Amino acid sequence: MNNGNLLTIVVPCYNEEEVLPETIKELGQILINLSEKNKIDKNSKLLFVNDGSKDKTWEIINSYSSKYDYVTGIKFTRNYGHQNALLAGMSLAVKHSDMIITIDADLQDDVNAIYKMVDKFLEGYDVVYGVRNSRDTDSFFKKHTALMYYDLMKRLGVNLVPDSADYRLLSKRATETLLNYKERNLFLRGMVPLIGYNSTKVYYPRKERYAGTSKYPLKKMVHFALDGITSFSIAPIHLIMSIGIIVMLISIVLMIYTLVEKIQGSIVPGWSSLMISIWFLGGVQLISVSVIGEYIGKVFTEVKHRPRFNIEYENYSRKF
Ligand code: UDP
Ligand code: MG
Repeated sequence: MNNGNLLTIVVPCYNEEEVLPETIKELGQILINLSEKNKIDKNSKLLFVNDGSKDKTWEIINSYSSKYDYVTGIKFTRNYGHQNALLAGMSLAVKHSDMIITIDADLQDDVNAIYKMVDKFLEGYDVVYGVRNSRDTDSFFKKHTALMYYDLMKRLGVNLVPDSADYRLLSKRATETLLNYKERNLFLRGMVPLIGYNSTKVYYPRKERYAGTSKYPLKKMVHFALDGITSFSIAPIHLIMSIGIIVMLISIVLMIYTLVEKIQGSIVPGWSSLMISIWFLGGVQLISVSVIGEYIGKVFTEVKHRPRFNIEYENYSRKF
């Protein structure tokens, strides 16, 4: 029987065979503790989303799910990315769950914060952000670029909760609202603050990855960061407009200057000024066109309305 507190913990997994057994053990223990304290429904589940892993990740999920009733899995037909994996897990879980927690598979985010999140849900919050209170384990580079990024996003008018990633709790109705946002270019941490409802934060220390290596190499990270900007703000297009106006003003001044020089008869071949302006304007134009192209690309992917993920198999639904 569902007592109104059914919890599903959604875990995206891409090549996580090294950490998965430990993750299942730790998260499973938390489910057991919570249901013993009667804070969550006995039917609460772990839902692992295998995002097209090339290693034994799916085999591990499958074998645990035949052994334990609370372990369930989704298998994607291929790799669709972290954000889509989260979304797939939430779409499936929302039918049966009263609350959904999303957490990475690598145990970097302290699993004990789940107790605090559930308490906040029971107090009546719909959205509970997990916020890391230290970045000691992040590299100097990652720490500083992350800070600069949050600052930039704030200036661009995008409301992010600093130092929170995709570790959070959403109630059933908050998840349903989030799933109504149909965009293909997913940046969940920017979307969640948009859905409203009463929200709160719980703090936890961020640890090292338990095992394995990051599945977010620099290239993927930069892509994700740029996606965040161009999916949520049209400030870059406005910036291009300003640059255009400034360049035009400069060229008017230059035009007057050259005319005056010409009238005074002191014309020099003018090679350097010509070269500088050609290169400078060429650069400005290329940047501008590419920024606009970036947005057109986004429109292109949105209008196609392609499915955001395809599920080959799942055993979550049949365990209810
Ligand atoms: N992940 C995924 N699909 C991908 C890349 C990553 O599902 O294409 C998952 C990964 O298994 C992990 C989470 O997303 O559970 C975060 O990845 P990771 O810990 O490697 O990122 P980092 O913490 O280094 O930013
Ligand atoms: Mg990680």
